Amino acid sequence: MNRLLPDRVAVAVVGGGPAGFMAAITAAEAGVRDIHVLEATQEPLQKVRISGGGRCNVTHACWDPRELVGHYPRGQRALRGPFSRFACGDAVAWFDAHGLELVEEADGRLFPRSNRSSSVVATLRSAAAAAGVTVHRGMGVQAVQAEGGDFLLQVRCSGAQGNTRRLVAGQVVLATGGHPSGRRLASSLGHTTVPPVPSLFTLALADDPLVALAGVTMDPVQLTLELPDGHRERQRGPLLITHWGVSGPVTLRLTAFAARSLHAARYQAELIVDWTDGGSESELAARFQEARRVQARRQLANARPWPALGRRLWLHLLQAGGVDPALRWADLSKHHQQALVEALRRSRYRVRGRGPFGEEFVTAGGVALGEVNMASMESRRQPGLYLVGELLDVDGVTGGFNFQHCWSSGWLAGEAIARAKGAAG
Ligand SMILES: Cc1cc2nc3c(=O)[nH]c(=O)nc-3n(C[C@H](O)[C@H](O)[C@H](O)COP(=O)(O)OP(=O)(O)OC[C@H]3O[C@@H](n4cnc5c(N)ncnc54)[C@H](O)[C@@H]3O)c2cc1C
Repeated sequence: MNRLLPDRVAVAVVGGGPAGFMAAITAAEAGVRDIHVLEATQEPLQKVRISGGGRCNVTHACWDPRELVGHYPRGQRALRGPFSRFACGDAVAWFDAHGLELVEEADGRLFPRSNRSSSVVATLRSAAAAAGVTVHRGMGVQAVQAEGGDFLLQVRCSGAQGNTRRLVAGQVVLATGGHPSGRRLASSLGHTTVPPVPSLFTLALADDPLVALAGVTMDPVQLTLELPDGHRERQRGPLLITHWGVSGPVTLRLTAFAARSLHAARYQAELIVDWTDGGSESELAARFQEARRVQARRQLANARPWPALGRRLWLHLLQAGGVDPALRWADLSKHHQQALVEALRRSRYRVRGRGPFGEEFVTAGGVALGEVNMASMESRRQPGLYLVGELLDVDGVTGGFNFQHCWSSGWLAGEAIARAKGAAG
């Protein structure tokens, strides 16, 4: 795949990730020739390979663009236009047309039938080769300058080609993901970048007995995060208790939406868990009354108020509510019942930081969307420059939404490049 780099190319795509590949393939399939992908490392599409635990969650079965934008803490409204032209259904059809069948899981995530990310990598690589795209490895772009309608690139080549090369390109696609070099290149070309902060992470709790329940899941729960700046964020979904705090889809969604406020608060916040998923006081009172009637002689420790509430969690809630687990249901006082209802609906935990691992490590922040024409991904600052993928100030929650943005923005840029070339004759 790695041929010698010519001095002049029609299109230089900086970054061989999913967004860059999609842009290059789309333009090439629409008839644009002389497209070169410049990848700094020896392994293009590396993040695709490691994604989704080696399975690659390619996209999500979310077919309505209006609903789809709700999965992007940064992007949202601005993505309505792009998703109305190329969204999840188009990605599924695109991969199908290129020989890769995607299979939907019960929660809506779509994976390759092989369950291997290598199939996605192979599909993108062979589509690029078939369309005539040249992929260069070990070529890190250090500088890009606009010059007389063209772009002058300074490229650092590793390996046999050695040292630094200069390259003139008619059009440039910046597709460098969350790498700082891409933000530097965009800034040097007149763009503002929103400072990056982590998104999608688990939460560490201050020394709390809850962590003794590591491995316990509860689905669904409602989480509310209260931040010192008054920001409140609420999400519902499956929760996993870990050795350090909380994880699972609802936590990742919560931290994605609160990424900036959490960063500003140095990851100190209050977490309120509603273990009843929004159950009202009167509903709970009725359940407790029923439990008193049916299992009056049994000890609280051995008889939960309803079966879906796991035993270990119930014991934790009894402890949190200051209620003796040896008490019989018939002897539960009104006062203790109220303490339990409070623990079930509003258990409070102190967040002391981020957990050690993320699931989909993405960056919130990047090139400001107002400076990009979202119909074409062309820069409003620099004609002929396109910006795609994670480099932009867009990020999604887990579930295939981050790749979906890469497919959509890459496809739009590729189409726009083809139109621009067509117009230029
Ligand atoms: C462990 C992990 C698992 C993930 N799993 C999923 C998942 O299952 N589903 C999902 O939707 N998302 C997932 N994501 C997020 C997803 O991988 C990213 O959103 C996506 O890869 C971004 O694509 P991109 O093309 O914008 O950038 P990248 O994939 O980061 O590609 C950018 C490329 O540009 C190269 N580059 C950078 N700077 C330069 C330069 N100056 N010159 C030349 N080359 C350069 C980099 O080496 C890289 O190859 C996961 C992320 C991680 C880390």
